[in-house]
Amino acid sequence: MAKRINLKAVPRDALLRFTEEAGLPGFRAGQLVHWIYEKYASDISEITEFSKALRSALAGLAYISNLRLASRLRSSDGTEKFLFSLEDEETIESVLIPDEDRLTLCISSQVGCAMGCKFCLTGKLGLIRNLKAFEIVDQVIAVNRLILPRRITNIVLMGMGEPLSNLGEVAEALWRITGYMGISKRRITLSTAGLVPGMVLLAQKAPEVNLAVSLNASTDRERDEIMPVNKRYPLKTLLAACRKFPLRPGRKITFEYVLISGVNDSVDDAARLAKLMRGLRCKINVIPLNPHSESGLKRPSDRTVLEFQKVLVGSGLTALIRESKGQDILAACGQLRADYPKKGS
Ligand code: SF4
Repeated sequence: MAKRINLKAVPRDALLRFTEEAGLPGFRAGQLVHWIYEKYASDISEITEFSKALRSALAGLAYISNLRLASRLRSSDGTEKFLFSLEDEETIESVLIPDEDRLTLCISSQVGCAMGCKFCLTGKLGLIRNLKAFEIVDQVIAVNRLILPRRITNIVLMGMGEPLSNLGEVAEALWRITGYMGISKRRITLSTAGLVPGMVLLAQKAPEVNLAVSLNASTDRERDEIMPVNKRYPLKTLLAACRKFPLRPGRKITFEYVLISGVNDSVDDAARLAKLMRGLRCKINVIPLNPHSESGLKRPSDRTVLEFQKVLVGSGLTALIRESKGQDILAACGQLRADYPKKGS
């Protein structure tokens, strides 16, 4: 018997080919898309629009894969962290962040990450593997299914991994999230540590998706220390690429600045940062570090955080202090690691 295909793993044209080869009219491909991406069918038997005979014939040729929920933790602030297990038993995390009128899902693009940012637990894992497009989209499908009748309204690619290192799969996933699931590109933000060539490609492959850049320093010396990627793409190169990044009217690049005590949190840093931002359409999210025991880095005092913000605002910049949510369940920025029993253990 031929190997059954995973309907979530095939791209658009292959899905059409599959229905043709199965002797089905073309509209069946559209129905499959509808049931998988809008009704979150987890098995062909759930597609009740198809006759029993058709469902059973299809089940002989294909299946629908699903992320396995390994754990679900809820923070006192309403944030929820989902640990998913993949077909090869690797694990990833996604974080659901409720806000007044928004329900944002922070998704992962890789198992682990090669970028090695000092303040981040995921970076400590190193890169284990890239996620496939369907594994990226499946985080949205799985969480939507779990939270029914609510639906995710916004997506941020800020979970495990550097999305621009896996841009082919990320772009295909974004296509499905927007084209199949109806989430507007305006409601999607991709965050990068600063992979300049990937930023250029992103503008071509997924135009109109919002860009966030994890900046975190005002000099190359400081940034080299905490973000090794800066040795390849130093501040001048990175900010030149940001200036060229195509932005629609009214849109801005978000710069994330994790404040680390004694490392990048002085008023001089703030003044230099304000200078670096000149001529950029941007807003700055100032994020006091979520410390974890393995980094030895510390969170600055509230006063330092406020003084830092004051300098930026005084320079005419939009700068907001963002407290990461879900700290009590290790769901906050830089805390994702999926540190559960690993493959084979
Ligand atoms: S902050 Fe992002 S890019 Fe840096 S190590 Fe962590 S996951 Fe990777």
